Amino acid sequence: MDAQTCLKKLEYVGVLAFATVDKNGAPQIRNISAIHYEPDKMIFFTAKGKAFCEELLTDGRVQVLGYTRYKEMIRLSAKAVPVCENEQEKWIDTIFEEQPYLSNVYPGNTRKLAGIVFEIKDAEIEYFNLGVNPIFRESYTIGAGNLTQKGYVFSEKCIGCGKCLKNCPQSCIDFSARRAIIKQENCLHCGNCLAVCPVGAVEKR
Ligand code: SF4
Ligand code: SF4
Repeated sequence: MDAQTCLKKLEYVGVLAFATVDKNGAPQIRNISAIHYEPDKMIFFTAKGKAFCEELLTDGRVQVLGYTRYKEMIRLSAKAVPVCENEQEKWIDTIFEEQPYLSNVYPGNTRKLAGIVFEIKDAEIEYFNLGVNPIFRESYTIGAGNLTQKGYVFSEKCIGCGKCLKNCPQSCIDFSARRAIIKQENCLHCGNCLAVCPVGAVEKR
């Protein structure tokens, strides 16, 4: 798996959930399908009058979520920025050509008066597959996106008692090295290991 394949999978899903933060700090979510994909970025259309547009222009933080029929969750965490003024029209036309239904929603020139196109080119992408055994997760970046550390790790306090492994739903704890470690790519982030560790050796990142 890689970032480009994740974008291809999102394109195949088609309708994605876009979450933003409004001016009161409350989460807002909506489905967006007016999206064009480039190998390393995502370009999408909305209307200037929508609260969604206002949230993107004032805060810009956005999470984009898609879920495939194979139980794969793909999430982008990014900032969306408007495409430069002299490319707006080109991308509006591209998106409307790829998705003819949009011409019923914004017929004729109404799309150019109402519309604005944003791009996501710097993002963290999280891939989480619940359809395989063990489960699989990995993170990637596009552009200048940053990877964030999540989940759990074991510290030097670990005494190797094995209690965490007995309670791990994915058996993703490796005792073959000097110190037990979590196989991060198979970890659910459920927290069972932290809950049962008798010496406080499990840390949440
Ligand atoms: S339960 Fe805690 S001390 Fe025991 S093996 Fe797991 S991390 Fe180490
Ligand atoms: S967080 Fe859950 S899945 Fe991950 S190692 Fe701990 S018990 Fe296992």
